[in-house]
Amino acid sequence: MIFKDVRVVVAGLGVSGRAAARVLAGRGAVVTGVDARTEVDGAAELEAVGVRLRLGDGDTLPEGADLVVTSPGWKPTAPLLAAAAAAGVEVIGEVELAWRLRPEEGAAPWLAITGTNGKTTAVRMLTSILRAAGLDAVAVGNVGEPIVEAVTAGHDVLAVELSSYQLHWSSSLDPRASVILNVAPDHLDWHGSLDAYGAAKAKIYGPGTVRVCNADDPVTVALAGPDAQAFTLGTPAPGEFGVVEDLLVDRATTEDPVRSAEELASLADVAPFAPHNVANALAAAALARAVGVSCEAVREGLRAFRPDPHRIALVTEVDGVAYVDDSKATNPHAAAASLAAYEQIVWIAGGLLKGADVEDLVRAAAPRLRGAVLLGADRAQIADALARHAPDVPVLDVAATDTGAMDLVVTEAARLARPGDTVLLAPAGASMDMFADYGARGDAFAAAVHRLAGPGDGGS
Ligand code: ADP
Repeated sequence: MIFKDVRVVVAGLGVSGRAAARVLAGRGAVVTGVDARTEVDGAAELEAVGVRLRLGDGDTLPEGADLVVTSPGWKPTAPLLAAAAAAGVEVIGEVELAWRLRPEEGAAPWLAITGTNGKTTAVRMLTSILRAAGLDAVAVGNVGEPIVEAVTAGHDVLAVELSSYQLHWSSSLDPRASVILNVAPDHLDWHGSLDAYGAAKAKIYGPGTVRVCNADDPVTVALAGPDAQAFTLGTPAPGEFGVVEDLLVDRATTEDPVRSAEELASLADVAPFAPHNVANALAAAALARAVGVSCEAVREGLRAFRPDPHRIALVTEVDGVAYVDDSKATNPHAAAASLAAYEQIVWIAGGLLKGADVEDLVRAAAPRLRGAVLLGADRAQIADALARHAPDVPVLDVAATDTGAMDLVVTEAARLARPGDTVLLAPAGASMDMFADYGARGDAFAAAVHRLAGPGDGGS
């Protein structure tokens, strides 16, 4: 076995680090698990399988390492990783490790998805489609499940969500088919530049990969290079996946693109309906088709798909106004997508913008805004953009930044809304200024909406 007696340092003992340490120990590697914290979950289990732990110091590289497996979020400049680089010790992530651990015979193909936004949704759609085709498929990677154990678990196919960090720490991936859904500025503080961020994303394509990209996003087209397959919400060209009238089609051949289009599904099969979810569905369909899945299974899988919470989730309707929780819209690009899905909107926005620019987002959304209610740390930046691009739109600034402010936010939004409108929580920023995470923010919103609706609403 290739890892027998290899001295491996696992840097960062989160979920994927612990899985990597366990698997490596099982392969006979000499594993040292390092973490800056003095206590980590699962420490006793790791020690029981022979992993040596060094807790309370995340900076120093242990003596004599042959390989470092790093937690994806660690920056290359982290002292331990910089020391490894200086000493010529290879640094990889858990995803690259998983790739190297695939069985030589009969390994499950990887269908891989990255992008600034839509990864989890597209991976879940893909898994649903693959299962509808009768395949034993699991969603792994950034979606929350370590991949290092899944590669040897005997699945038919793996639906792999990859973040830009995970891709940065990979070097030899060669999935059967991969897609970059979109690229917008995000995590630039980590990667250093948009080019470096894009270059990390492009590592999702190996020499043998069917490369899928988004014809509506030129950055993805450039990263995929020539001979890529594309999906589009515009008019699909021959060989592309796209929308024709209300149908999702695979324009499989070039002979007669209209008649040779194979019907994959109809728009009514995509729920919750939003243009960006149609894009996610087309991307998932393209990957599934690359492993020979039928059109029928694509349709069936999309119909069976259920989104994860806080992604365009209708909380309830009150007095003819729909309240929608898209708390997962944690950057301007994501918020732009959800704002594009509704006609008349009372927009709830704010949070930590992480240096992102909201100018384009606010300009594009302005004509559809009935009003806006702003909360959180960076709300002034959004208020300034609204004053420039939507001077007539009423904007309420909820100055309170404690979590209880959500009741006030929802009451103010309700006051601005008219029947037929949508009150949309699409914050464009991260939640950690006020909440534990985007889930807690969405839950607080939903709870406040249910209180507004009053007894008999049935929610909690
Ligand atoms: P990720 O896993 O990349 O964070 P999710 O599927 O969890 O993506 O969706 C996060 C948010 O991004 C959604 O709530 C929605 O606001 C937005 N979004 C989803 N798909 C797309 C897309 N294809 N393009 C732009 N924004 C999207």
